[in-house]
Amino acid sequence: MEIKVAQLLNEQVNKEMFSAYLYLDIENYFSEQDLDGFAHWYMLQAAEEMEHAMKIYNYLHEEQEKITLEAIAKPDCSFKNDREPLEAALEHEKFITDSIHTIYEAAEEVKDYRTMRFLDWFVTEQAEEEVNANELLAKYDKFGNDPRALYLLNSELKGRE
Ligand code: MG
Repeated sequence: MEIKVAQLLNEQVNKEMFSAYLYLDIENYFSEQDLDGFAHWYMLQAAEEMEHAMKIYNYLHEEQEKITLEAIAKPDCSFKNDREPLEAALEHEKFITDSIHTIYEAAEEVKDYRTMRFLDWFVTEQAEEEVNANELLAKYDKFGNDPRALYLLNSELKGRE
């Protein structure tokens, strides 16, 4: 594998782990607000992000590439209201999408078809992640100020698997 592609994949392992960390922080926030459905949803997201990290980690192993584990940054989120974490999540997913696309471009440049194939799953996944994050923020904006509607939204999130 081309060194640049391997490097970017290594960095992506860290970014996915940071995503898990960010979502745990959001889970923590909603837990404290007694919005257990929102907390549950972000707990699921955190677990998914760990899976993403491991997918890339295992791919690097399979390709006999060196894996470097860097420090995971502290999520810098002192949320002031219930909307801020939802917005932070959407912004973060957009950032991750860009990052995946950058690796894809680097792989394409050196005709690393195997890595492009591998990244296809992530390209699709990111589209889904952005839809989900967008949708939740839109729902919150529509219903967040109505306690009864917020209760129902929270219940709906609590039932998600
Ligand atoms: Mg991810």
